[in-house]
Amino acid sequence: MTTEQVAATINPWAVAQQQFDLAAEHLKLDPGIRQVLREPRRALTVTFPVKMDDGTVRVFTGYRVQHNLGRGPAKGGIRYHQDVSIDEVKALAMWMTWKCAVVGIPYGGGKGGVIVDPKKLSLKELEALTRRYTTEISVLIGPERDIPAPDVNTTPQIMAWMMDTYSMHAGYTVPGVVTGKPISLGGSEGRNEATARGCVYTVVAAAKHLGVDLTKTTAAVQGFGNAGSIAARLMRDEGSTVVAVSDTQGGIHKPTGLDIEKVLAWKQEHGTVVGFPGSTKITNGELLELDVDILIPAAYENQITAANAKNVKAKIIAEAANGPTTPEADEILAKKGVFMIPDILANAGGVTVSYFEWVQDLNRDHWSETVVNAKLKEIMDRSFGEVLAMSLLEEVNMRTAAYLVAVKRVADTTALRGLYP
Ligand code: GLU
Repeated sequence: MTTEQVAATINPWAVAQQQFDLAAEHLKLDPGIRQVLREPRRALTVTFPVKMDDGTVRVFTGYRVQHNLGRGPAKGGIRYHQDVSIDEVKALAMWMTWKCAVVGIPYGGGKGGVIVDPKKLSLKELEALTRRYTTEISVLIGPERDIPAPDVNTTPQIMAWMMDTYSMHAGYTVPGVVTGKPISLGGSEGRNEATARGCVYTVVAAAKHLGVDLTKTTAAVQGFGNAGSIAARLMRDEGSTVVAVSDTQGGIHKPTGLDIEKVLAWKQEHGTVVGFPGSTKITNGELLELDVDILIPAAYENQITAANAKNVKAKIIAEAANGPTTPEADEILAKKGVFMIPDILANAGGVTVSYFEWVQDLNRDHWSETVVNAKLKEIMDRSFGEVLAMSLLEEVNMRTAAYLVAVKRVADTTALRGLYP
């Protein structure tokens, strides 16, 4: 079976609950609080029609899930993908709760998705779908309640349409209802790069902790979207030799290192990294098993599983994607001594700068990119330090440590707030 086929057999919601259970056991969490945190607070399914360019009507299904609202409004992206399911959105929403808690920003967790291959829609159809989906989930979203953002296949333009739709209903402009907007509409400097930048900050921190000189390392990045392509560039800027990258059509390998700017230009022109001159074509599965020092999965869930974990050769893994490693694979990797920087920490830079964007919007303020990046670095370094300290104290791997930090913060809020009524 290919990595993609294996991934399709694993339910991300079961994975998310399994990861939570592990932390809940370790924390000896109160059974009541455990039951609450194990399920999403709200899960909305919407089915809505869109008029297509040829005049026909197509009906789409979408979701918005709020996992937890204890620490603040729900926060999390919207995914457009043909394989979106309610269980995937539930998992992604739960991961958002832990992610916001691990970096200490005042949000709960949410996520949304629409079952659609956006590459098959015209721009007009994409806008119509986005506006109608926004209207359907407007019973949940709002700057004080639930704030969407980009995720797989959703862009600043899509966020602009969401903001505009919500604002049209409100009767005035509400920039704080979504983040990841274009800068001219209240978007933040540095938001576009934030997921990758935060991820590379954690790699730098890990390398420092492990005594690794990044200029002597090689790296492979799975996924060449917003997170992956920018992570590849920033790893190169840190002096690492990026030998492989990939997208949905496959990967490319060049042992002497890829020129990331040229790969970006190639992808722009050809729609894929595959075929890049001077590189060898590999599969997404082969990329994960390359003999590199650093591996950055920046695509989808369930890529590193019990089926391939033993073949992974990287010494540091930084999860720019959400949920790329299963609990079974985690165990195998931990035994091999792989230093894992888990998703809820490694990719938290995106939501952190989303938080900065929201704060700027609510205050009608605009910060420079230098200020944004400095604040992001401070939060990522502090969070990395807290998770590492927990991992050393409790003698657990970095994922479990991140969960212990995050789940405890959310559980403490739940206990302090008490039960209503
Ligand atoms: N979709 C991103 C994530 O998975 C960003 C979420 C946000 O900025 O709210 O973390």
